Amino acid sequence: MKKRIAVLPGDGIGREVTAESVKVLECIASAYGHEFVFEEAQIGHEAIEATGNPLPDTTLDLLHRSDAILFGAVGHPKYDNDPTLKVRPEQGLLRMRKELGLYANIRPVKLFDALLHASAIKPEILKGADILFFRELTGDVYFGEKGRKDNNSTAYDLMIYSQQEVERIAHMAFRAARTRKGKVTSVDKANVLESSRLWREVVQRVGHDYPDVELEHLFVDAAAMKLIQSPRNFDVVLTGNLFGDILTDEASQIAGSMGMLASASVGDRKGLYEPIHGSAHDITGKGVANPLASILSTALMLDISFGLKDEADTVVRAVEMTLEEGYRTADIADRHTPAEKILGTAQMGSKVVASITKVATEV
Ligand code: NAD
Repeated sequence: MKKRIAVLPGDGIGREVTAESVKVLECIASAYGHEFVFEEAQIGHEAIEATGNPLPDTTLDLLHRSDAILFGAVGHPKYDNDPTLKVRPEQGLLRMRKELGLYANIRPVKLFDALLHASAIKPEILKGADILFFRELTGDVYFGEKGRKDNNSTAYDLMIYSQQEVERIAHMAFRAARTRKGKVTSVDKANVLESSRLWREVVQRVGHDYPDVELEHLFVDAAAMKLIQSPRNFDVVLTGNLFGDILTDEASQIAGSMGMLASASVGDRKGLYEPIHGSAHDITGKGVANPLASILSTALMLDISFGLKDEADTVVRAVEMTLEEGYRTADIADRHTPAEKILGTAQMGSKVVASITKVATEV
């Protein structure tokens, strides 16, 4: 199979982890006889520095020409510390999602057994937790009207959802639940927010098309608590843009670290694959970032965009095998990890590549 993959490393550790994912995809291509053509383009702070635009036209053009997109992260301390700057790195990401019609962000949260003790949560609570988040990506406060009034002393961001926006992602979540444990938990704040009342109404209506799937509704505050208290009670979680943003960072603690959670952003056409973490300025340039979230996002690409299920399973198995052999990056190491097993970003990427070769030859 021949595929064109757009590579957008972006800023900070985005570049460091994406390089490891390219290594992994190259190894998969050679092990299974595929041809992946990689082409790189700029986004975020690096694109603003080079062109003044966080998503330059050349990048947009590449996105439209590619079969799938491998993305790192955007962000720079300059913007975090100066909220008055009008041109910002994250605008590149938000526009890319809009331009490509990527309305669903899919985030699997599954703890590898080898990491049971890396999480701050007790192993007996975590063992067996396997959650699939569907976070809506193109609505909510991120895209509603925003502004200032009363002489700049009051600010607002409109939380807005249309019926159609809720419907299409709800169908996706219900279909996914059918292939899993058959339960959807829809998370909203319908006791206070009108947009959440519409959300709940639409999800209930869509639910009637899937009588075999159990539907539960939770308010976001209760969901935040229950995720940590009893993560095994969740199967598919369906939620809006803002609540999903926050809950999936929380859920990263179920998987051990922000450095372990991958995501796929999909719509009706091509998909974008990225780790859920940001550009992590605190560790940029140190070579210690965990590349596994980005590497696991390549498994989602192979499966969802290319339909290469065996290859996707090989990447996940290779990550699992590397962890079972005791290798860790600093964020997932614990006090029992011997110093020689604590690896940097590139070393961890190379260990996964070596494991892929082993898994692929075993098959
Ligand atoms: P972050 O995800 O970058 O980092 C949060 C914490 O997790 C940091 O302590 C970081 O060191 C750690 N961490 C994150 N990824 C890691 C990895 N792979 N390995 C080891 N440790 C890891 O979030 P933040 O600090 O809130 O934001 C930093 C910048 O990233 C900001 O500019 C923000 O706007 C941007 N951001 C971008 C995205 C994106 O591009 N999708 C998402 C979130 C934040």
